[in-house]
Amino acid sequence: MERIAVYPGSFDPIHLGHVDVIERAAKLFDTLIVAVFVNTSKTPLFSESERLQMVHESIKHIANVSVEQSNDLLVRYAQKRGVNAIVRGLRAVLDFDYEFQIALMNKKMAPDLETIFILTGEKYSYLSSTLIKELASYGAELKNLVPDQVESALHEKFYRNRGSV
Ligand code: ADP
Repeated sequence: MERIAVYPGSFDPIHLGHVDVIERAAKLFDTLIVAVFVNTSKTPLFSESERLQMVHESIKHIANVSVEQSNDLLVRYAQKRGVNAIVRGLRAVLDFDYEFQIALMNKKMAPDLETIFILTGEKYSYLSSTLIKELASYGAELKNLVPDQVESALHEKFYRNRGSV
């Protein structure tokens, strides 16, 4: 049986902490789908298609990883796609409560679907999309934090915004 996992997130934008989780999770499964989801509690900086495109560019070096976009409930999406496991990343204790609650809720809705947690890479433990956007808004250097094309996209977005103020 093919083992398929999904790594869901907002990826607004994708950063190297995400890429590290993707590279490591890809080794554990036959296929890994990175799924760009709408997170109703967050207002995104990038559109869904921009986020999808940036993920696509950042993962094309990994053979068994693909990217999709969905507005569906995660467990329903996973069931439709024949997914066996959900991959999530854990940075610090701070992530734990939120991730634990969601994993238990998903388990209640889909008992056969396992959630697998990948511990952050040491050098990425402080990285979040929120922090990246904050730095980018000040025009700060983002090398070694995000893939190159994400850095360009961020600078363009904030440059354009600044220009319009
Ligand atoms: P969401 O809106 O679902 O939280 P994110 O794009 O912020 O989506 O994150 C997707 C997943 O990646 C989450 O499981 C999150 O905990 C994980 N993650 C985010 N940053 C890091 C990091 N630096 N190291 C490891 N995992 C991370």
